[in-house]
Amino acid sequence: MQIQFLGTGCMMPTKTRNLAGVLLSYKAENIIFDCGEGTQRQLKIAGVKPGKITKILISHWHGDHVLGLPGLLQTFSASEYQGVLEIFGPLGSKKFFEHMMKGFAVKEIVDYRLTEVESGKFFENDDFYLEALPMKHGAPCLGYAFIEKNRRRIEMKKARKLGLKEGPVLGKLQRGQTVSFKGKKIKPDDVGFVVGGSKVVYITDTEPCSNAVKLAQDADLLIMEATYASDLQAKADEYGHLTAKDSGMIANQAGVKKLVLTHFSQRYKSGKILEEDARQVFDNTEAAEDFMKIRL
Ligand SMILES: [Zn+2]
Ligand SMILES: [Zn+2]
Repeated sequence: MQIQFLGTGCMMPTKTRNLAGVLLSYKAENIIFDCGEGTQRQLKIAGVKPGKITKILISHWHGDHVLGLPGLLQTFSASEYQGVLEIFGPLGSKKFFEHMMKGFAVKEIVDYRLTEVESGKFFENDDFYLEALPMKHGAPCLGYAFIEKNRRRIEMKKARKLGLKEGPVLGKLQRGQTVSFKGKKIKPDDVGFVVGGSKVVYITDTEPCSNAVKLAQDADLLIMEATYASDLQAKADEYGHLTAKDSGMIANQAGVKKLVLTHFSQRYKSGKILEEDARQVFDNTEAAEDFMKIRL
């Protein structure tokens, strides 16, 4: 799995930071969390073809998180996007989306399916599932979790010793089923072991709230807003945002492995101040830069 930051600023872009956008690539999936203005140019610079995007998850409908949508969707249509683009967002997303797309002389846009998500699990396949919980902000806002399922790894050495070759029997064992083979019972644990899946959580634009801790619980990677450092706590309270220290506290309470901060006010030329602010309470913190990559 790879995570790449497409934008790490808030409100308006700066020379070095685009607006909200994180790309999560996993097998054939390329999921974008938020789509701030300029996201498609960031994808271009990152070398990602827009046609490869499979899902767009919108946290909320403030401009810095959605103004990249019309342009990106227009490109999808022009490049004959294959399949149906899945868009998820909080309650009210259908109305906002319709209004936005009415603002242009667009004849047709890409095939899409827009789902309004309230809370809980909203997508699942064999490899992973997606969950959301409402956050506390000036507009309906969702935090998202990508949860990879546990999977079994087969140890071929052990399998061969029992006379097993690659094929349907081994397939059953990989799916966790006990099989009978040449009159003997073989359990999945006899030929392999379980590898735990990774959990990535994306939370932006919220006041501190219990749902943030709940959603982030035991995450391998928590991507979280840190609009201000804690000396500007009053501003964070006024606009419904987190300080870096708030994010560190949530990371701490949720027992996450790593915290990466994003969505920085343009007053911070470097993320170092924010990084240090969060590290007062949570050590494994890093401030994101545009195009930064993380492998899990
Ligand atoms: Zn924002
Ligand atoms: Zn906002």
